Amino acid sequence: MASERQIHVGPVPVGGGAPVAVQTMTKTETANLQATMAQIRTVAEAGADIVRVAVPREQDAEALKTIVAESPIPIIADIHFNHTLALKAIEAGAHCVRLNPGNIGGPEKVAEVIALAKLHGTPLRVGVNSGSLPKHLRQLEYDNPVEALVTAALETVELMERLDFTNFKVSMKSTSVPNTIASNRMLAKRIPYPLHLGVTEAGTKWSGSLKSAVGLGTLLADGIGDTIRISLSTFHAEEEVKVAWEILKALKLRERGPDLIACPTCGRLQFDMDTVVSEVERRLEAYEDPIEVSVLGCAVNGIGEARHADFGITGAKDMGMIYSKGEPLKKVPTEQLVDELFKEIDRYYAAGKTVQRDELAAAEARAWLAENEDDTQLTPERIAAMEAAAAEDAETVLESMLSGAGPPIEDRPAPAAALDEEVSPVAGRRFSRN
Ligand code: SF4
Repeated sequence: MASERQIHVGPVPVGGGAPVAVQTMTKTETANLQATMAQIRTVAEAGADIVRVAVPREQDAEALKTIVAESPIPIIADIHFNHTLALKAIEAGAHCVRLNPGNIGGPEKVAEVIALAKLHGTPLRVGVNSGSLPKHLRQLEYDNPVEALVTAALETVELMERLDFTNFKVSMKSTSVPNTIASNRMLAKRIPYPLHLGVTEAGTKWSGSLKSAVGLGTLLADGIGDTIRISLSTFHAEEEVKVAWEILKALKLRERGPDLIACPTCGRLQFDMDTVVSEVERRLEAYEDPIEVSVLGCAVNGIGEARHADFGITGAKDMGMIYSKGEPLKKVPTEQLVDELFKEIDRYYAAGKTVQRDELAAAEARAWLAENEDDTQLTPERIAAMEAAAAEDAETVLESMLSGAGPPIEDRPAPAAALDEEVSPVAGRRFSRN
């Protein structure tokens, strides 16, 4: 269901199976070159592939020439209402122009912009916003907002095709997550052009990130969407970029930098894990390689849960342990855990991505782990594993009964009992830190 067509925004391919591109938008006054360029460099460093700048005035269109020349990533000029500014943006060399044909002053003005875009080979992002649908769709918007959005987008696509222009991507913006999902699912089936996804005015860093992760994540998991922008109410546009990357990394659509895995903690925790995880996350930002780093709050599970992690730490009251791929490397005092973890990671890179193991230190760590491990504890991880095994057993028995295959019913093993909170041996139990 990914788009068939591909366009290029500067050197960045969009659609047609290209990696999903990360976009953001500067929050500065565009004509303030120093502030705008500083923000563009910051978002590029954070991983933005493409950046959009607002062009509401003549001086912003004028500033575009310098911005395009100096930017490390392609620039999209964001135009509303004024088709003259769209023409100026194309002439200034913008790598793409975003406009909503419905608010640019009529089909003749759209045609004028398209003619110049063709001449310069400039792609457009065309689209519709739930807040500004054409008048003739107002009743439909009231009755069926999803159909109204899709109809408006299809009308825009038809206008582009009538003007013999196909160098564009489409966006449909809504503040509603369900409407964003439903409308993009419908549109993706109807047109071959790349789709730009976003939940418009999503909100603050916390709620906006969650809304975007749910809305965009659902569509991306379906294979829909070629570029994404996370709209957050913050001046720091790089935060939008970081959230976009986390969504793409979570879905394994793209890789960038380390993946941090951390347990949720529980009553067995015996050290300040919040501070440790924050510090590990902060220091990992300096690394580009997609290594997996795990932080476990205690050693009661052994390190089985993090067997796949390239590096990890597990803490306890006074001592903690550093491990790699499920094998202990060394034990260290808890307050040195983070520093020692990064020493091991740096040694690994210095040795050409080979884990450096001191056998004596590893043996000490193994002994410490054996002392601290407790395979009688029903930890959250063990309960989850037991539930999964129980569900699998029950499913196998059910399948065998339905198919009529397998041994006579009296010889069949009883399905493993699913865990019941009420009868669980740990119901209501409280764990002491002493
Ligand atoms: S039992 Fe699991 S969740 Fe609880 S602190 Fe240990 S590793 Fe973390």
